[in-house]
Amino acid sequence: MKRITSRTTEITIERRRSLVTRRTTKRRLSYCPICAREGEFVTPEEAAARASVTLRTIYRWLEDGKLHFIEQPGSELVICSESLA
Ligand SMILES: [Zn+2]
Repeated sequence: MKRITSRTTEITIERRRSLVTRRTTKRRLSYCPICAREGEFVTPEEAAARASVTLRTIYRWLEDGKLHFIEQPGSELVICSESLA
C-alpha cells in the first residue's frame, strides 16, 4: 500500500515538471509591431502544430506575409500567435 502511494507521487511530479519545461521553452511574450501590442510568439514548429499544417506551409505563409514574425540576431525566428488565428 505504501509502495503504490509513493510511486503515484513520483509520476505526478514528473508530469508537472515536463509541463513546466514545455511551457517555458515554447511560450514567450514580445511586442508585435503589426498588432501594435505585446503578444505571444511561438516557434515555427509550434505554429505548424497549432495551425495543423506542415512546417513548409508555415514558411510559405511567412514569405507571403500572412504571418507576423520577428527575427533578432542570434535568436531564432518566432511567429506572432495572433497572426495564426
Ligand atoms: Zn502580430
